[in-house]
Amino acid sequence: MPVTPRPPGGASTLRAVSRLLSIAQARELVRAAVAPLDDERVPIEAALGRVLAEDIVAAHDVAPFDSSAMDGFALRAERPHTPAGTTLPIVGESRAGRPADRPLGPGEAMRISTGAMLPEGADAVLQVELTTEDGERVTLNEDVPPGRNVRRAGEDVRAGDVVLRAGMVLGPAELGVAVGAGRAEVRCARPPRVAVVATGDELVDPGEPLGPGQIHNTNATTLAALAMQQGAEVFTVTGAADTLEDTEDALDAALSDADLVLISGGVSVGPHDHVKDALEALGVEQRFWRVALRPGKPTWFGVRDRVLVFGLPGNPVSSMVTFLLFARPALRALQHAPFDVERRAAVLTEPVARQADRDEAVRVALATDASGTLRATPTGPQGSHVLSSMIGAAGLAIVEAGDGDLPAGTVVPVEPI
Ligand code: AMP
Ligand code: MG
Repeated sequence: MPVTPRPPGGASTLRAVSRLLSIAQARELVRAAVAPLDDERVPIEAALGRVLAEDIVAAHDVAPFDSSAMDGFALRAERPHTPAGTTLPIVGESRAGRPADRPLGPGEAMRISTGAMLPEGADAVLQVELTTEDGERVTLNEDVPPGRNVRRAGEDVRAGDVVLRAGMVLGPAELGVAVGAGRAEVRCARPPRVAVVATGDELVDPGEPLGPGQIHNTNATTLAALAMQQGAEVFTVTGAADTLEDTEDALDAALSDADLVLISGGVSVGPHDHVKDALEALGVEQRFWRVALRPGKPTWFGVRDRVLVFGLPGNPVSSMVTFLLFARPALRALQHAPFDVERRAAVLTEPVARQADRDEAVRVALATDASGTLRATPTGPQGSHVLSSMIGAAGLAIVEAGDGDLPAGTVVPVEPI
């Protein structure tokens, strides 16, 4: 079902036929096609980079008990403080993991370690550096008010607090917080199964010598890596020659076992572009073809059952940019994460030439200046074949179609890479 947006008012249908979808319209069609995958239990040690499919609630306070922030001596402080110069008998010890075997009374002190449970009756700690002791008695060299150097139970997290939300990506800190909340396993979305098919007679595998007219197949590597970075399991990466038969065979195999298929090249209007015909023959229903975007105009998207199929243009930058704009949100949403990547506003540091009829995704380096303003600098020549323009790019600045240059100083939305 090809989608053609109607012009406002709906009068000029002739114009509507030739008008391309905007980036936002195309993304809405992708969003509508995504059904989140099932989730599964994942042991915490295997959960790095996975997307959480449940809220994590703290099973107990973190920290679970009142403890000492210092190595030193615990005491029961007088109000407003026990004065410097006070000498107290040392009546026991509380070590980390080995609480004292008796409570502490007024006028007594106990040795205590950082992280050790505060003995019953104690309410303050003076660090060892500020004391003098003779083995049996300790003298305080500073005033000690109640609460000094005490970490209260639940200071970090309270029992019952939601510490992590569904949709969050689990990095090292999130994993630690989950463990602190009492968890040994978490529910995560099943990793999307992704197939990559690179079409083109000119393509040669990495490291192979190049014959006349041949190029290395960079897209197979970049697309698989981009998908893996989004938590996908890339289970097959194949090539297809520029014939309908070969393209259909490769796509048939990819479709059989995938949640999402990434196709590079062969999606334009040349006589050797067979991807659209092959997909049609395989029963993949077109949702859109062509977007008012540079680079990436020929982008194609369709579905078969629950399988999402992206036909990405072959130019190396185009395929990366269109992956980021259309396939990345789909992979996120499949895993229960928000579809949209949060855009940031950045100030252009140099003028950017606008396209008259298409929005442009300009690869930019990002830096925050002294006043806290995010500044975006294009990463050099922006041709869709200039793959090096992706190196050092931290974002895609979306520069809307228009006449002439967009001047330096203009604020543009930036989609982080
Ligand atoms: P296509 O979209 O098939 O018309 O290809 C557009 C341009 O991208 C051509 O210059 C192709 O040689 C190049 N290209 C296509 N596929 C790849 C690939 N997998 N790796 C690198 N370049 C490619
Ligand atoms: Mg081609």
